[in-house]
Amino acid sequence: MTKVVLVRYGEVAVKGPSTRSRMERLLVRAIEESLGADGLKAEVRRESGRIIVRLGQDSSWSDAEKAARASARVFGVKSASPALEIEYVGLEDLAQKAAKFFLARVRGRVFRVRARRSGVEPFTSKDVEKVLGKLLLESGASGVDLESPEYTANVEVRGRRAYLFDEVVEGPGGLPVGSEEPVLVLYSGGFDSSVAAWRVMRRGAPIHLVYYDLGHRGALRTAVMGAKVLADNWAWGHRPRLYVVNFRGPALVVNGLVRPSYRTIVLRRLMLLHAQELALREGMEALATGESIGQVASQTVRNLRLISSGLELPVLRPLAGHDKDEIVRESMRIGVYDIVKTQVEICGVDQPPNPRASIEGFKSEFEKVKEVFVPPPLVFDLKGVKLEDILKKLGLTTSGMSAKEV
Ligand code: ATP
Ligand code: MG
Repeated sequence: MTKVVLVRYGEVAVKGPSTRSRMERLLVRAIEESLGADGLKAEVRRESGRIIVRLGQDSSWSDAEKAARASARVFGVKSASPALEIEYVGLEDLAQKAAKFFLARVRGRVFRVRARRSGVEPFTSKDVEKVLGKLLLESGASGVDLESPEYTANVEVRGRRAYLFDEVVEGPGGLPVGSEEPVLVLYSGGFDSSVAAWRVMRRGAPIHLVYYDLGHRGALRTAVMGAKVLADNWAWGHRPRLYVVNFRGPALVVNGLVRPSYRTIVLRRLMLLHAQELALREGMEALATGESIGQVASQTVRNLRLISSGLELPVLRPLAGHDKDEIVRESMRIGVYDIVKTQVEICGVDQPPNPRASIEGFKSEFEKVKEVFVPPPLVFDLKGVKLEDILKKLGLTTSGMSAKEV
């Protein structure tokens, strides 16, 4: 008997054989890394339609529960169950062994048995449900209810082995990171770009983040902290980088030369063009932002058009159709809410944009600043470097916020 985690994946399962095999390998690697981060030693294997995490013989049930949680934070995973793996000979033996495991769990409770079978056995899943159900009922369960039981005893039969479990931990779904080409996310450390970054990564694209520093120390600190959470909690099997670009120069030039109602969108386009150059240089194949249609005046359809017109790389806007409250809720699930809620809105210019900027007007305003100098970025390996070290390198204090930073 071995404690294991039964890992289920959703979309990966419907891919063609070679894509599927590649994605399964990525999943295995990511799960191994996530387990390792929690100090769990296990063998992770692909077994027709599942990934099975086998823990060492001396591991406890709570290790299996911990391992299920670690597996369920990996993109591509639909759900994970801590389970007991048993070997059996025949239906009677299977039911006896399963009853031993479930006995204490069903005692005094209304229960049901749910069985499924992946191979060809001389018995059906219904047989397992009946035989095991009877055993459990005779040995202390208080009744059977197939509709809404207090407890569900699950049995998954796979050849000569069977898996016994009662808990299903939801995973994030999506595709394993690395199954897509890398994407550069314009990351401000606010709600929107944090959730956008997570959503892009969930679809299998390894992400890197670029922050345009407009001179506010507190905003930079929050962005670094948010980026660190995204990397440490979610980027299993991948090492995101954070690029910090000093953008005070371009902001000053825009403020000096561009007509007030065009400043925000001109500055945003400068960011995108810079990000595109950086992405192309570093082998990334798309940009992503946290923009959502109509959320603010710079994000009207017209202004989104102007900001990114004529770019060579696609600009992914995974939140285009989201309401703000949905985005905030999702940030809680991702674990960045407490950090990004403190983020301040820094637009770098002193005038709000016109929600319907004219196309010609924009072109001529942009012409004035398109050659502006941008210094090379500072680059951080988000998973390889401690938060304190990144903050120190950026000249930020490591605890609390100093008056100088605000
Ligand atoms: P967020 O919550 O991500 O800050 P927002 O609703 O505040 O977004 P804007 O400030 O208009 O919206 O920014 C729109 C998008 O532009 C952001 O989601 C982000 O992708 C990008 N962006 C804005 N400012 C910066 C910055 N300083 N550095 C990097 N990207 C930025
Ligand atoms: Mg913002």
